[in-house]
Amino acid sequence: MSIVLTGMNPAEIAAELGIELFQGRQVFRWLHQKRRFDFSQMTDLSKALRDRLLATCTGAAIQPEFVQESSSTGTRKALFRLADGESVEAVLIRDHGRITVCVSSQVGCALKCSFCATGLAGFRRQLDVSEIVEQPLHLLANESLEGRTPNIVYMGMGEPFRNYDAVMKSIRLLMEPLGLGIGARKITVSTAGDVKGIERFGEEDWQVRLSVSLHAANNELRSKLVPFNRKYPLERLREALDAYCVKTGRQFTFEWTLIDHVNDTPEAAEELLNYAESLPVFINLIPWNPVPGLPYHPSPRKRCEAFRDILVRGGLKTTLRQEKGQDIEAACGQLRRIHGKESASPTPKFQED
Ligand code: SF4
Repeated sequence: MSIVLTGMNPAEIAAELGIELFQGRQVFRWLHQKRRFDFSQMTDLSKALRDRLLATCTGAAIQPEFVQESSSTGTRKALFRLADGESVEAVLIRDHGRITVCVSSQVGCALKCSFCATGLAGFRRQLDVSEIVEQPLHLLANESLEGRTPNIVYMGMGEPFRNYDAVMKSIRLLMEPLGLGIGARKITVSTAGDVKGIERFGEEDWQVRLSVSLHAANNELRSKLVPFNRKYPLERLREALDAYCVKTGRQFTFEWTLIDHVNDTPEAAEELLNYAESLPVFINLIPWNPVPGLPYHPSPRKRCEAFRDILVRGGLKTTLRQEKGQDIEAACGQLRRIHGKESASPTPKFQED
């Protein structure tokens, strides 16, 4: 069976192939720093090693099959085909010169949030380390990163803490100085409130950021939007977050997707103010990205701003994000839903809006 090397660090590549550590570093640098997956182009490797890699290894575990790019925002969304025919999505977002890549951690998702395209399709399988780490490698393949490090957010398809070990390993690979060398503070893991995962994450010896998708601060509404709330209700989540902040001394973020007349009311804002009291938390408000077939509407801009203003008046540091992806179906799981069953195209298609 062909070996995939993108999920291994330099020492693991050397051990897997029985080569010197410096050669393992060379291969890793090609895959992660230069983001090149064709072994025949790895010109500083010996011919014998190149031939061996070509005969025994696969350069990339995933292939970009369908890529959409918005000419107005520069947002680029990719659907990746996996070896077993499954597919996942990742998105590259540009904002004032910064690049952020949103990565998936699972094929589908078992948590079935009622506003989410991925949740509609249910859980298919876990992604392995190569399938996770290659999403940013492919999306950044033709980007010049001179003088700027991308941000990575684990906010795509899936609940990252439900695939904990693979996600953590992928983070370590993205932080490798011989690869992309991304600083821990530029990486964010977003959970729907997996308390066990938050507890484990608090034990990690790094500054990788935590984000919690809250969306409602009363149990009745949160259980409708995020059914996982029945397993870990708000009180239990709050205990875990208090312990996380004490243990790590770190701030974190609450994500709140604003849905018209569902969770964008003044009462909902007051509930959030109460829930977040004394927590070192930033609030990230995101207008809901419409998903065909779901009975929701995005909050109009005025309602978003009114919601934000209540939080700011209450003393919460709050950002209201511009939605950057409506023109290319950027909500989590939408591209896969629409294009996932299309036949494979060998080269990525760039579709201008
Ligand atoms: S919002 Fe996230 S956690 Fe909820 S169903 Fe979608 S992918 Fe899963």
